[in-house]
Amino acid sequence: MKNLELYVHIPFCFKKCAYCDFLSFSCDEKTQLAYADALIREIECYGPQMKDYFVTTIFVGGGTPTWLNEDKMVEILDTIYTYFNVSADAEITMECNPGTVTAAKLEKYRRAGVNRLSIGLQSADDEELQILGRIHTFDKFLKTYEMARNAGFANINVDLISGIPYQTAEKFLHTLQKVVRLKPNHISSYSLIIEKGTPFYEAYKFDVVKQEAGMQTEVLPTEDEVYRITKLTQQYLANAGYEQYEISNFAQPGFECEHNIGYWTRENYLGLGLGAASLIENVRYSNTSDLDAYLEGELRVEEVPVSRKAQMEEFMFLGLRMQRGVTRQQFQAEFGVPIEGIYRDALEHLKAEELLEMSAGRIALTEKGQDLSNYALAQFLL
Ligand code: SF4
Repeated sequence: MKNLELYVHIPFCFKKCAYCDFLSFSCDEKTQLAYADALIREIECYGPQMKDYFVTTIFVGGGTPTWLNEDKMVEILDTIYTYFNVSADAEITMECNPGTVTAAKLEKYRRAGVNRLSIGLQSADDEELQILGRIHTFDKFLKTYEMARNAGFANINVDLISGIPYQTAEKFLHTLQKVVRLKPNHISSYSLIIEKGTPFYEAYKFDVVKQEAGMQTEVLPTEDEVYRITKLTQQYLANAGYEQYEISNFAQPGFECEHNIGYWTRENYLGLGLGAASLIENVRYSNTSDLDAYLEGELRVEEVPVSRKAQMEEFMFLGLRMQRGVTRQQFQAEFGVPIEGIYRDALEHLKAEELLEMSAGRIALTEKGQDLSNYALAQFLL
């Protein structure tokens, strides 16, 4: 049987954060429950069609999945177990925002099979949290974290954002220090990306241009400061025993996120819920993003086969995000041609620039290559 990853989207949040362009919004409980029922119907529809697949990971994301009524969440998970072949040792992650759980809620999730919690802290500095428009304080996060450990969660990720307005490397170090003290098993540290259509874009769009041009910025950290933050994060987390296994992800040994590794290795995944995307046997599907249509039973609105060229590009872009990179053997097995047959020039050129290292059939970015990853990865466009 082939492997399959499931992503379940719960698009509700108390309040929209100022930088967020995800498909998420606030709504009343009646709508949330109607959404959960529509999601259950979607699971019942696709489960029987995916009987040849073995589900190795489930990721319940959002939005704020922990805002949904916990009994409904358990019903959603139980429906998945009924309709899909879920592996007994599947990694089952739930995203959780500080202040949206109770000990009883966490206990229910754990009993329903959730074995990994991903807590959206973003910063340990309350002023930065306010700037981001988050609804919680660091203290609220601490309570959530403690409750999660007490409920028996042995695999916890903490999400952080760097590059926040007015942030310096030293300020970000304080966040790292406060987080590492708690010994989470996994830390994701993403750089803030200012997306069009968000309040942050309106407030900081001129600074983004200056930042990208390497000029002095008003509010956002300069390009040099962003680089200092990246290097400091890598050093500090390495010293604390976290291995950087991907550009933005750090884990204690054995706690890498299987679900994300599946994305970077182009595993089949099925997205369930509003706006969710899927990749099944090299065809991309997207669900409707219209809530009313979804509640009325409309599901997939787009189906696009991924060309062989695009498959090769994705294989390289995604695979090289990981420290372990890609192997010649995988490329040959997937595409039936040696990697040099397609990418000889790019490989030689990046190796000569010391951006790529190749040994024992493995190809990976060097540290310099990671620093210049946008440039390095662009060389694999066909
Ligand atoms: S909690 Fe997450 S999904 Fe919700 S608005 Fe904030 S950033 Fe967006």
